[in-house]
Amino acid sequence: MNEPVKAEEELFDVTIIGGGPAGMYAAFYAGMRDMKVKLIEGKGELGGFLHTYPEKMIWDVGGIPPIRCEALIAQLAGQAATFAPALAFNQRVDELQQRDDGTFVLVSDTGERHWSRTIIIAVGRGITEMQRLEVEGADRYELANLYYTVQELNVFRGRNVLISGGGNSAVDWALELADVAAQVTVVHRSGQFRALERNVAAMRERTKVLAPYRVVQLHGGEEEIRQVTVAHMESGASERIDVDAVIVNHGYKSSYGSLVHWGLDAGEYGLYVSERAETSLPGIFAAGDCAAYGSKVRLIAGAFADAVLAVNSAKRYLEPDAPGMAEVSSHNERFKERNKQLHRKR
Ligand SMILES: Cc1cc2nc3c(=O)[nH]c(=O)nc-3n(C[C@H](O)[C@H](O)[C@H](O)COP(=O)(O)OP(=O)(O)OC[C@H]3O[C@@H](n4cnc5c(N)ncnc54)[C@H](O)[C@@H]3O)c2cc1C
Repeated sequence: MNEPVKAEEELFDVTIIGGGPAGMYAAFYAGMRDMKVKLIEGKGELGGFLHTYPEKMIWDVGGIPPIRCEALIAQLAGQAATFAPALAFNQRVDELQQRDDGTFVLVSDTGERHWSRTIIIAVGRGITEMQRLEVEGADRYELANLYYTVQELNVFRGRNVLISGGGNSAVDWALELADVAAQVTVVHRSGQFRALERNVAAMRERTKVLAPYRVVQLHGGEEEIRQVTVAHMESGASERIDVDAVIVNHGYKSSYGSLVHWGLDAGEYGLYVSERAETSLPGIFAAGDCAAYGSKVRLIAGAFADAVLAVNSAKRYLEPDAPGMAEVSSHNERFKERNKQLHRKR
């Protein structure tokens, strides 16, 4: 703490923690504001929470026709790369230090250090992991026919699919796969499903529902699950079901890790921010699902708006006389050459 900045320590104007929609859009917008940007992501790729529903169609992002979520991730990542920000992957930012000159040092779980003049926290729900199936040996089938997300419906065409779970996503999958798979069996440990009533009713009509049941054993060779034993939650009575694929949708667990000890004002819904996306610590801003304020919109569109606010505030923190926002893109000189190329391509 408090060592002077050394020559080899590359100092960024803004370091964004988190590569979901908020972080990606902040990286783009900070580039529009001529800031030197770094983005650090805990996982191995950009996209954030969108990776939990890659095959879903997204309709509610302004100006974009219905788009598969994985395609939206690719477009957002492409836009984030416009001004070539520095990217660091597979690093969960854990520690925050501030030096006497006001600059920050972020330390990640790998021990790597990052130097920055401002910080935008865009960590969404924190580092999220799908809840694994708690059955002995389940992990060895993860590269074969045990799935935690559905990337491609066709993979299940004509197959016997068992879905374990009882939330919205499990019910959605059951309904979508009912048209594609040979047979869908839904196993849920409670008699109550946490999903829209009409969807649950449709699922009961079109699939085989075993509730309250749970998966107790997977049977197969070294490579694939061939059968699943399920047991009634109360009586313990069990049955063995032939399967070609098992989809587990037990929700996810998420954690903010050490970030909660940074001394930022926070509550049940995230980090409290001002209308300018300022957290309680000067020089640190927050955007996206992790930011909490009165009219917060926890959608991709809301993440974009937060990102703009956070970047503008970071810029003004560094340069109090800078304009309140970037030059609009339609008249922004920065795009002049690129616009020429785009017009030529038409
Ligand atoms: C089932 C479901 C469906 C949805 N459908 C829609 C929809 O149709 N339309 C819509 O607009 N919105 C939808 N949403 C909401 C949307 O997904 C979120 O609003 C959006 O993902 C928030 O983006 P974010 O960047 O704030 O956070 P996230 O997408 O959660 O990204 C945060 C990123 O930060 C990283 N991170 C966390 N902690 C650290 C750390 N310490 N160090 C480094 N990296 C870290 C994470 O790995 C993650 O990549 C849906 C949400 C759910 C749950």
